[in-house]
Amino acid sequence: MLTNKGIEQSLVEVRKRIDLAIARSNRDPRTIRLLAVSKTRPVSALEEAYRAGQRRFAENRVQEWLEKAPSLKNDCEWHLVGSLQTNKVKYLDQSVFMIHSLDRFSLLETLNTHGERIDTIWRTLVQVNIARDPAKAGLSPEEVPDFLNSIGDYPHVQVQGLMTIGAFDASATETQEFFRQLRVLRDTLQSTKRSGVDLRELSMGMSGDFELAIEEGATLVRVGRQIFGTRQKV
Ligand SMILES: *Cc1c(COP(=O)(O)O)cnc(C)c1O
Repeated sequence: MLTNKGIEQSLVEVRKRIDLAIARSNRDPRTIRLLAVSKTRPVSALEEAYRAGQRRFAENRVQEWLEKAPSLKNDCEWHLVGSLQTNKVKYLDQSVFMIHSLDRFSLLETLNTHGERIDTIWRTLVQVNIARDPAKAGLSPEEVPDFLNSIGDYPHVQVQGLMTIGAFDASATETQEFFRQLRVLRDTLQSTKRSGVDLRELSMGMSGDFELAIEEGATLVRVGRQIFGTRQKV
């Protein structure tokens, strides 16, 4: 149920559900972080979340991030999720904590060039289309090993994990299976040592399925509607 109760109250509830999922799955609570996906939300909503203790935010449009980020205190951690156009990379700077949507060589190259220019090494996650949904971005699981093999040639980009978006119409069982597949892929890939690659993070799980994701090994869950209420526009 998505209601528009206060953001503070919603955050308390989401955190409680996260804690329960952590307990059920016997995981170390320090390895799971909640990202408040604040896309399309006004700065006032982010400030309310900030007052309730939230420090990690995720946006999906560079322009919107540029407009909103300066309004919040600078102890926030900003994550970029959702497809990243190469012509927007030039606007990024050190205040981006992590990019979740590295999904092609052209983006890898552009990030590396810009990173060199501004003397930064980007923390990134490779987006994987684990559900093989033609409407979704991301490398297919088969493409990931070659992509990771080349990261060492781009010293201003580090890959710290994998990210996926589940299929919209999947059942809970199917979704859980996709999350499990992403973890298995990560575990398999992690057994090969690659320069610039350490796949410690798994970014998976949104409002409808973050508990399943935690049970399957997520380290970063990206929750929007369950914190901020139903979106008007996407
Ligand atoms: C919008 C979005 C989310 C959050 O989705 P909700 O259903 O609002 O929780 C998570 N990840 C990505 C990539 C998104 O674009």
